[in-house]
Amino acid sequence: MDYSTVVDVFTEMEATSRRTELTELIVRLFRSTPRELVDKVVYLMLGRLRPEYEGVELGVADKMALRALAISSGLDVKRVEEMYVRRGDIGEAAEEALSRRVQGVLFRDKLTVERVYYTLERVAALKGQGSQDAKIRYICNLLNDAEPREGKYILKMVTGRLRLGVADYTILDALAIAFAGGKESRDVLERAYNLTSDLGLVARSLVDGGLDAVKAIRMELFRPIRPMLAERVASAEEALERMNGQCAAEYKLDGERLQIHKHGDRVKIFSRRLEDITSHYPDAVDAVVTGIRYRDVIVEGEAVAINQDTQEYLPFQELMHRRRKYGVEEAMREYPIALNLFDVLYVDGKVCIDLPYMERRRILEGLLVDGSSGSGGSDGGSSAGGGGRTVSIVPMIIADDAKTIEDYMFKAINEGCEGLMIKDLNSPYRAGARGYSWVKLKREYRSELADTLDLVVVGAFHGRGRRVGRYGALLLASYSRDDDTFYTVCKVGTGFTDEDLNRFYTMLSPYRMEHRHARVNSRLEADVWFEPRIVVEVIASEITLSPLHTCALNSIRKDNGLALRFPKFTRVRDDKSAEDATTVDEIVSMYKRQLKVTRQVHVGGE
Ligand code: ATP
Repeated sequence: MDYSTVVDVFTEMEATSRRTELTELIVRLFRSTPRELVDKVVYLMLGRLRPEYEGVELGVADKMALRALAISSGLDVKRVEEMYVRRGDIGEAAEEALSRRVQGVLFRDKLTVERVYYTLERVAALKGQGSQDAKIRYICNLLNDAEPREGKYILKMVTGRLRLGVADYTILDALAIAFAGGKESRDVLERAYNLTSDLGLVARSLVDGGLDAVKAIRMELFRPIRPMLAERVASAEEALERMNGQCAAEYKLDGERLQIHKHGDRVKIFSRRLEDITSHYPDAVDAVVTGIRYRDVIVEGEAVAINQDTQEYLPFQELMHRRRKYGVEEAMREYPIALNLFDVLYVDGKVCIDLPYMERRRILEGLLVDGSSGSGGSDGGSSAGGGGRTVSIVPMIIADDAKTIEDYMFKAINEGCEGLMIKDLNSPYRAGARGYSWVKLKREYRSELADTLDLVVVGAFHGRGRRVGRYGALLLASYSRDDDTFYTVCKVGTGFTDEDLNRFYTMLSPYRMEHRHARVNSRLEADVWFEPRIVVEVIASEITLSPLHTCALNSIRKDNGLALRFPKFTRVRDDKSAEDATTVDEIVSMYKRQLKVTRQVHVGGE
């Protein structure tokens, strides 16, 4: 398959700002792709060579990429660097440099997708001393035969900048339309994706063996499952109602979610976003190797930083020390963790996700070597980390009345938790779904509108005064799963420290775009647009109707959307992807809940 075919479609994809058109373009590309290459094309479209969880990095720094470009174009490195600075985009610099090649080449081999993919695979595999020169040679090998517009995508890819902004769900739609008779088959594909987190694998199975092969896909050790997520509720009563009168109430710990895969003493840990974060938690690795009695397991739990002396839980932020490349040992000593398991997905050949909650909980309680469990409520887990153990089972009670839940919530909060997770006793583990089988009950929902929201940065406005040269305010959006689109809900300009402002500038620049992103719906014109990637947490005083924002536009009042009043930045949520942001539906229910509270206050005051 000619690489130029892929490049043509990528170019069109970058130019469109309509999601339906994006899907159509991908369908067209899939249909013109030979079967054995469909998975490769899926990965290339995502700017990767393999599924994200494998962490395969091309590892090419800008400097190195520009050197390769200089060699292939025959231009001076300085000149190529100048083009990069002027264009502000490495891909465009490549296009320009290659179109000014010093010597025209008479015979150029056409680039194929196979050649590009396998060469890049070699680039990624090169590690250690002397690898830089070899990487440059491989890149030159491609660039020498590349048309300028092909060179553009090659350089974007090797530097990790290829972002066409396609959501995983759009690719699933396109696969269903191209190879499975239409969107009706989407659910089957989505299920397989949720169990494997690998779109390439789903695509390959589909083209090789049809929908039956996709249906046969199972979860496997060391391949992360997309996590089950929770909805919010406002009160214990509402939680009980959702659960038909009886539920499990677990402590909701404020730490980092870990999905742990273990085979004997081989362990891998995946984050909520399914990145491999095993190296952040050597202590959790030890704890499960020595603390779990079975050979093969997949469990989920929350790692929480604890104070060594008092064994009390510490805030989520303390876990950030674990993110460094070096010095994890030191972080481990200074900020030890307690690991509280809350679910089991697989044990010694037995897949557990389809079992009801209570059965999974029973298996979970039998997993630990010393049989420690957090059940019972009165004594279970009454000290953080289950009494100083590194691994324990999260405390839980079964409840059928609101008072019991409220008392337990009080106890949880007193012990440093965020609140409770309320779970349906009969529900299976629904991979990749946010639903009412799990709901979260946090203290702040009860006290008017102090809810935090996790919103996606889709644009920014230039700063003035002290903020010149940085962004003065960010345009934030909520996510709608129904149409896979981001709807704006506020501009936020407060709560940032100087350090935050600098950090934002660097953090956001790789995602800068010329125009509004295809999946962003906005009435405001931002000075700068971004691909929806970075998620930030904000607090706000209330939710109001607004003609400026598109979140829930026309759904409450004609020509009005919902907006946050007095939003304030609190932190970056780098454990969340854009699709994990607070949804439009959630904001609508928060708005309605707020109306109810306000009415009650008025009635009470009269
Ligand atoms: P939040 O923003 O409220 O922290 P979230 O949006 O990151 O939540 P949700 O799925 O809405 O994710 O809330 C569930 C999260 O709470 C889980 O991802 C997990 O990290 C954490 N958690 C803490 N304790 C538990 C528990 N007992 N069961 C399940 N999840 C728990």
